[in-house]
Amino acid sequence: MKLYFATGNPGKLREAREILGPSYEVLSPLDAGVEGEAEETGSTFIENSLLKAKFLFDRLGEGCFADDSGLEVDALGGAPGIYSARYASDHNFADNIDRLLSELEKIYGPSSDEDVFPGAARFRCVTTLILPDGVPHYFEGTVEGRIARRRHGDGGFGYDPVFVPDAFPDRTIAELPEDVKNGISHRGVALRKMAEWLAV
Ligand code: IMP
Repeated sequence: MKLYFATGNPGKLREAREILGPSYEVLSPLDAGVEGEAEETGSTFIENSLLKAKFLFDRLGEGCFADDSGLEVDALGGAPGIYSARYASDHNFADNIDRLLSELEKIYGPSSDEDVFPGAARFRCVTTLILPDGVPHYFEGTVEGRIARRRHGDGGFGYDPVFVPDAFPDRTIAELPEDVKNGISHRGVALRKMAEWLAV
């Protein structure tokens, strides 16, 4: 099945192809000659995910899906949340991690014997699927974890070097092989729900 994925993020595209497997041909907006992307003016993951999916669907009229995702840190009242991609500067993963660590150090202090900050955090993903009938369907996934005081690993993208999933408490997601990340990740959960729904 051919589906267009409304993303310009090569990490998300790679992961979606691996998660959905060979039954799906996952294409990017550029594969269809669509440039630009929706403005994320919504106030929730669902709203922004719908805006992105609709932007692409309105131009193609073919099966599309979008992913709005981000990191929620309880000690920061759920920030960066929907602003994860632009917490410090737009799509600059290094600056965004620096800001996250400095906000947490303001709360917990700059040093500790612990490798991770106390308190829970999670990645959240809302996938919106629009098939040619134009009706949106939503699928959500989360992965729980904590934030490491320092970066470890070079896999994945975004906040992966500082996110320690509860399922692997000694490693950041950036230290896990991609198929292991996809097996537990917010995106993996949401996209497998979408694939199950499509298979019915
Ligand atoms: P958006 O969905 O394009 O608004 O951006 C999501 C942002 O959340 C990304 O730019 C990353 O900073 C962060 N994010 C979402 N998913 C992941 C992930 O799987 N690993 C690390 N960071 C992520």
